[in-house]
Amino acid sequence: MFIDSHSHLAEAEFESDLPSVLERARSALVERVLVIGDGADAAKTEKAVLLAEGEEDLDLAAGIHPHEAGLASEPSLENLVRLARSGSLVAWGEIGLDYHYRHATPEEQEEVFDRQLALAREVELPVVIHTREAEVRTLEILGEHFGNGGPAGVMHCFTGSLAMARCCLEMGFHISFSGMLTFPKAHDIRQVARAVPMDRLLIETDAPYLAPVPFRGRRNEPAFVVETARALAEVKQVSLEAVAKCTTENYQRLFGRAHPTGPVEAARVLGRGPGLVPGGSATGGLETAQ
Ligand SMILES: [Zn+2]
Ligand SMILES: [Zn+2]
Repeated sequence: MFIDSHSHLAEAEFESDLPSVLERARSALVERVLVIGDGADAAKTEKAVLLAEGEEDLDLAAGIHPHEAGLASEPSLENLVRLARSGSLVAWGEIGLDYHYRHATPEEQEEVFDRQLALAREVELPVVIHTREAEVRTLEILGEHFGNGGPAGVMHCFTGSLAMARCCLEMGFHISFSGMLTFPKAHDIRQVARAVPMDRLLIETDAPYLAPVPFRGRRNEPAFVVETARALAEVKQVSLEAVAKCTTENYQRLFGRAHPTGPVEAARVLGRGPGLVPGGSATGGLETAQ
């Protein structure tokens, strides 16, 4: 059994055929998918919430993507806190910094990233981190919020350096690899994967983006996460079953509190009383991480 730890199933690319996408995932033994919901646009967030609530094997994360940092508002942040407190989310994200596209200025991105990290800690959710061409600032900002080695969250679609991976592991992060692990030229990514301990690994599709070999260039979907697992097994010199087992266990340890202890946890978070809400569209082709 496999788990796709990062998939944008509420996006328009899946509108016409989501039931068959989910059917293919189940047939491929992909037993659970973490849907990454948009956090900036309330209507899109709601769509992701309804989607995840309607399917037992879908979990939900939501957060304001760095591309959309310019669209962040107090209501959008309050809405995410409300969803977290109601037990709708297993994680806060994806959030982070992307200095490659710069759809928002670095200053805007850093402020929104920092705010969301603080809120995620407040509601006690692990975080899903997106970072591109912003390693140093990402580590600096994460370091202000994490560092005790507790279960912090996941560095999704990891493409950073070995040194970056080591820093993230030290802060308590898991490292997730996407279909890029199957790309012939991705030697650096495979080298990092080789160094990450088995108990910190996750796999993901980042669907609809970044389809693995042999589906490269097509729309990605959760069933294809098996190809990333296969590549990881080869890199780690272990069986496919061993990769399936450890990535599933890692996912459940990190995000699984809603299964089956969700209501208890939700009640506990709700019991904390009013929380801190301080004052204050993904684009690109299918070969681009989101
Ligand atoms: Zn993504
Ligand atoms: Zn991303």
